[in-house]
Amino acid sequence: MLPSRPLVPIRGDGRPEIRLGKAGAALDWGMRRTKIVCTLGPASLDPAVIAAMIRAGMDVARLNTSHGTMEEHLGAIRMVRAVAEAEGRPIGVLMDLAGPKLRTGPTRSGLAIDLVQGATVTLTADHVEGTPERFTVEYPHLTDDIGVGEHVLINDGNIELQVESVSRDGLLCRVLVGGPLGPRKGVNFPSSALTLPSLTDEDRLAVRAGVEGQVDFFALSFVRDAHDITRTRALISSLGADTPIIAKIERRQAVANLDSILAEADGAMVARGDLGVELPPEQVPVEQRRIINSASQHMIPVITATQMLESMVDSPRPTRAESSDVANATWDLSDALMLSQETAVGRYPVEAVAMMDRIIRTAEAAALPDHDRPPAVGADDHSYVVALAARRIVESDANMKAIVCFTRSGYTAFLQSKVHPNATIFAVTPVEAVFRRLSLARGVVPLLGPLVDSSEKMLRLVDELLIGGGHLGRGEEVVVVASLPVQARGTTNFLKLHRAGESEGYGS
Ligand code: PGA
Ligand code: MN
Repeated sequence: MLPSRPLVPIRGDGRPEIRLGKAGAALDWGMRRTKIVCTLGPASLDPAVIAAMIRAGMDVARLNTSHGTMEEHLGAIRMVRAVAEAEGRPIGVLMDLAGPKLRTGPTRSGLAIDLVQGATVTLTADHVEGTPERFTVEYPHLTDDIGVGEHVLINDGNIELQVESVSRDGLLCRVLVGGPLGPRKGVNFPSSALTLPSLTDEDRLAVRAGVEGQVDFFALSFVRDAHDITRTRALISSLGADTPIIAKIERRQAVANLDSILAEADGAMVARGDLGVELPPEQVPVEQRRIINSASQHMIPVITATQMLESMVDSPRPTRAESSDVANATWDLSDALMLSQETAVGRYPVEAVAMMDRIIRTAEAAALPDHDRPPAVGADDHSYVVALAARRIVESDANMKAIVCFTRSGYTAFLQSKVHPNATIFAVTPVEAVFRRLSLARGVVPLLGPLVDSSEKMLRLVDELLIGGGHLGRGEEVVVVASLPVQARGTTNFLKLHRAGESEGYGS
């Protein structure tokens, strides 16, 4: 249950006022905690639109490799980087690997074929021009992997077939739910364990392009098990990179293997589009909560995705159900929410970002997140205990304004984010790639700073960046967490209560 809180007054610019939390900890400087991922496409691949989307609240730009050439993706990466630089904002670039999405083949003359309920139709791996009697599913193991009685869902589940018999020629299916079928529509076999490679040849090319373009995250579609992640990681590291991998949870198998997948992945996505085809619709909200909680336990960021403001593809205003969905995904403690068609092909890409920003801010200001979560995996880890202590301190004292993390790998800041303090987390890093990766972490404001090698220099840098940046007034306090000496990676072992301005008293 979310503790109910009075709505805070909203200033003219739509940003919530600074307000005090339960024990007086400052909640906000008008900063939105939950991040926004925007899919780029024909509607938004333009420097002026990207700049407007950044100003409206985009934190991460997503490139979908299901569409476009590698040259186009490299061009898009350069475009985002150039605009982000000009705007002075840490914008992450996420390359979404299409993975082994099965599709139907072409139809005769490219026209839709009509599948009539009760009729039979043969699905074949051979390349044929589709007719109502016989069409292609581009999958060589079709008759090996699919058995009698299994269901076939086509075009977002709008067409449903059931396999009646399997022969060398193909799958003879009965049409349970009919409709028009155009060329190259997505096909799902919800109850089959397919022997597909996790990475197609196109994905391998995309990984090369992504490493070359130094994307900040890869997302992997249709993950089945933890091996899919390890194999992708092996490919990325063979190319000399350590790009984080986000596991898209959109298959039944992934739902079944959730825990082992999230133990291996660097992030998760609740990919509700395909998940809602593989599972009945009523199961999607249940899995959404389970995936978000499980990602919290594994201390990795999680993105809630698909159809969040879908009606804004054609309309300047969302439905009431959509605005509730965005608010609820915020209260569920998603790290980020994603826009797909809305910003890729919609008529109102900038308005959709601005609307999502407003709904999130209002939701965050109205209610504190629920802290009653299952404990993290490795809950007695020292870094985790330090992060919890920092949260307790910042929430216990009205003069405590923020948590400041010093991080080289990003670990300290991601961990701090996952204990969900009711305070902004400033993450200071000397590594530009980490600065951009932190664009995905809930509640984290990434700051670039020089590498500092002593606690005295750290505290002086806190004063310089936070007082200098207008985030903190003299005399206000922050909790500083870090790993010292800085060569040590991976263990947060330093916590200091620091009063802004006091570093002047330290020697050099
Ligand atoms: P997609 O993934 O947009 O690449 O299909 C997200 C989803 O399925 O929800
Ligand atoms: Mn999908």
